[in-house]
Amino acid sequence: MKVLKFGGTSVGSVNSILTVKKIVEAVDEPVIVVVSALGGVTDKLLTTSAMATRGDADYESEFTEIIARHLDVIKGVISDEQRCRKVQNEVMELMDELGNIFKGVYLIKDLSPKTSDAIVSYGERISSLIVSNVIDKAQLFDSRKFVKTLRQFNKHIVDFPLTNKLVKDTFNPLPKVSVVPGFISSSIETGEVTNLGRGGSDYTASILATALDASILEIWTDVDGFMTADPKVISSAYVIDKLTFTEAMELCNFGAKVIYPPTIYPVYHKNIPILIRNTFNLDAPGTYISKEKEKISGKALIKGISSINDTCLVTVQGLGMVGVIGVNYRIFKTLAKSGISVFMVSQASSENNTTFAVRNADADLAVQVLNQEFALERSQGEISEIIAEKELATVAIVGENMKRTPGIAGKLFGTLGSAGISVIACAQGASETNISFVIKRQYLRKALNSIHDSFFLSQYKVLNLFIVGVGTVGSNLLNQIRIQQPKLMQQNGLKLNVVGVANSKRALFCREGLKLENCIEDLKANGEASSSEHLRNVILEMNIFNSVFVDCTANQDIADLYEALLNNNVSVVAANKIAASSQYSNYINLKKISRHRGIKFLFETNVGAGLPIINTMNDLINSGDHILKLKAVLSGTLNFIFNTLSADVPFSRAILLAKEDGYSEPDPRIDLSGKDVVRKLVILAREAGYQVEQSDVKCQLFIPESFFKGSLEQFWQNAKQLDSKFETMRQELEKEHKRLRFVASMDNGECRVGLEEVSSHHPFYDLEGSNNIIMISTERYHDYPMIIKGYGAGADVTAAGVFADIISIANIR
Ligand code: ADP
Ligand code: ASP
Ligand code: MG
Repeated sequence: MKVLKFGGTSVGSVNSILTVKKIVEAVDEPVIVVVSALGGVTDKLLTTSAMATRGDADYESEFTEIIARHLDVIKGVISDEQRCRKVQNEVMELMDELGNIFKGVYLIKDLSPKTSDAIVSYGERISSLIVSNVIDKAQLFDSRKFVKTLRQFNKHIVDFPLTNKLVKDTFNPLPKVSVVPGFISSSIETGEVTNLGRGGSDYTASILATALDASILEIWTDVDGFMTADPKVISSAYVIDKLTFTEAMELCNFGAKVIYPPTIYPVYHKNIPILIRNTFNLDAPGTYISKEKEKISGKALIKGISSINDTCLVTVQGLGMVGVIGVNYRIFKTLAKSGISVFMVSQASSENNTTFAVRNADADLAVQVLNQEFALERSQGEISEIIAEKELATVAIVGENMKRTPGIAGKLFGTLGSAGISVIACAQGASETNISFVIKRQYLRKALNSIHDSFFLSQYKVLNLFIVGVGTVGSNLLNQIRIQQPKLMQQNGLKLNVVGVANSKRALFCREGLKLENCIEDLKANGEASSSEHLRNVILEMNIFNSVFVDCTANQDIADLYEALLNNNVSVVAANKIAASSQYSNYINLKKISRHRGIKFLFETNVGAGLPIINTMNDLINSGDHILKLKAVLSGTLNFIFNTLSADVPFSRAILLAKEDGYSEPDPRIDLSGKDVVRKLVILAREAGYQVEQSDVKCQLFIPESFFKGSLEQFWQNAKQLDSKFETMRQELEKEHKRLRFVASMDNGECRVGLEEVSSHHPFYDLEGSNNIIMISTERYHDYPMIIKGYGAGADVTAAGVFADIISIANIR
């Protein structure tokens, strides 16, 4: 025989109940069907009770909703009208009883645990009544008659000898299909209804399977099986095909809700396998849980990750504990007497302290009883006051393959470290099937994601991007990401998730990823009012793992955010040159933080747009070379201007064309003054290993100072005055076969920028359009410098360079 348990969602709607019918009727052998209450009903019964207890008359409308939902479901699943009415009437009888209990609670404004247990029992009583009327030839049983509990430490625990006997008697002979309400039981002391705890229907099924020596216990739920982590938190979690009982037990005990933890022990004892299946996806084979360890080598080192966010740490400490026998005995005896369950313990080998984790609800009581127990030691100063640290979460990584495999703890804590998460307490039993640790609750999601990412070869890796600045470069980048996304996912297993976009006024965030088709319009229409400070606060609060801040602005306030972001393990990719060319101390500090935290601060596009200049220099230096000299044309704008000058195009017009074609800065004087080239040269010199400030660069202006004063409009008006001088210059140079180039050079840390005439055999002579060129002389590339040349400006190549920086952070194969 088999036991099949269907959870709340599996019996939550007309369609799902009809699927249950199909599944059960297809089984050849005798089957016991254990059902939960209709999905969400237990919660609703509890909230309705709470309302009634508060004297809130609206409890009635909540109750009416509960009734209506059940009557609707009955109508949907039983087509025979007469039968349908009969079942509806039977259910209404139970609802009337329930209504009277609610009324009583409402009148006396008091809800005893006994009454609460009675109220929630109706969920399963009614669902089982419905299901038994849907499945062909099904016989309904009342689990209160054979699942018996006794009271221990204030909790109802199953009286196994009695329950086993009653189950065997009840199901002898065994009908073809029996339907049993899960979760509910009754007390051997009072006969009143009790229950097995939230999620307890799994346990009911396990009790029945064990007592009746079932061939298998099938748990039908709403996911494809036991997964590497909770799929509601980790989108890349995947189904584990096989688990051992121990692994499953460890994962459930640490919060994997897919099985109620006490479920496993009874079937494990009898070696009855558990199969987890999805009612909503019959094609999925599910997860098979048995004694058998997987023999296949090379599989993931751990099987799964789970967590409990309801965690509180209590620490007993003091020098008076060192070497004293019996302190731990007293701690745990005291806790046990008060019915407090401890789910993790850690003790320093100095014996100076013992820390343990309990649920938040037990924390205050634990502190109180321990302070009483150790009152004498506390008064003598041997033990400090015992306090509880709240708002924590416990995470466990689990797997039998961890046994005797070195490096797992190292990998785990290294991963947490590089995600910027500090571990408050940790424990690993000698069985080595579980390492558990406690962190601040606000880091839970990030911790789970980081560990999942590091331990499992998920189908894909996720990088979460905040893109600030949606002007020409930013919008181009968003477009490139959108186009490239499917390919990156398919070929490289990389999912680029844009979790935030912002312009100077507005911001839009979505943890699951924004739709890129229309996110700029969406930002403009629906974005929240934003500022750089707001951006920082939201990004730090979202605290998303593997996140990258992409700065496509030219804004100082945004550049000022990098330090805080890097300090919180958010990598930075900047097209914005301000930070890398700011004071040397700031530049070096940002580089230090990123190195220290194991994240990236990248700004390849600060010089030469998408050309691989900084990366190449870094490669040279990292492989032991020394950069001695640089000579470069780094202003796409100026090069465009000098290349565009002709008999027909005067200087002022060339500037205008540069602006119109999107090469120049919004204020072209930043280019004309050489300021932009100075910044680039400073960045290059720094990356080459020299400590340089902008003020150290000798800059020769080629336009009189007066043109840089006043407003931008004035500049445009005056620009024509420059035309004749440049036309004369141009004609003379043309005769000599020379061209004008604005050249940046560095010689052993000495930097200068200025206009130079280059002759026709010089590599800079044939530099078309807005292209950039750089000659790098190093110890190895000495007589013939290395030359990098190509497009040095333009939104698409810059966006592509930013994109390449982002991809390099993902470190994909
Ligand atoms: P049921 O009502 O069928 O008993 P539950 O809600 O109790 O279903 O359990 C199934 C849910 O458990 C899933 O929807 C999923 O969100 C959650 N869950 C948590 N951890 C895991 C995990 N490791 N694998 C699968 N599901 C998990
Ligand atoms: N209905 C109960 C609950 O929601 C028991 C169960 O579904 O397993 O906790
Ligand atoms: Mg459940």
